[in-house]
Amino acid sequence: MERFLDALSRGVFAIARCRSCSLTIWPPNPLCRRCLSSDVEWVEMNPSINEIKGRAIVVADSHLRDARFALIELENGIRLLGRIIDEDGYSVGVGSQVMMVGCGVDDEGSKPYYLFKSLSAYTSNT
Ligand SMILES: [Zn+2]
Repeated sequence: MERFLDALSRGVFAIARCRSCSLTIWPPNPLCRRCLSSDVEWVEMNPSINEIKGRAIVVADSHLRDARFALIELENGIRLLGRIIDEDGYSVGVGSQVMMVGCGVDDEGSKPYYLFKSLSAYTSNT
C-alpha cells in the first residue's frame, strides 16, 4: 500500500501484479490473494501518457461537494471510485467510456483520488 500511495503522490497509477500467477491484485497489496506469493511487481501507468480507459458502472452527484462521481471499471477489471471532471459538467452517465486524466492523494497523504473525463468529450477536443 505504501508503494501504491507513493506512486499516487507522484501522479502515477501503480498496479500490483503477481509474478507467480499473473493475477492483478486490487486493492493494492504486497501479497497475492490467490496464491499468497509475495513476489509482486508494480506496473506503473501514468495517466498523462497511458490511456487508462474504463466504463462508468454507477454515477452519482454529490451535492455537498458539487461534483459527480462514478464507479468505474477499468479495462483490466479494476473497479474504483473516480471523480468526473468534464468541463461541460454532467456528460458522463452509466455505460459511458471514460479515461483517467489524473490521480493523486489528498492533502493528508492517505486518501487516493482519481480524475476521469468522458472519452468522447476528450477526443472531440483534440
Ligand atoms: Zn499469485
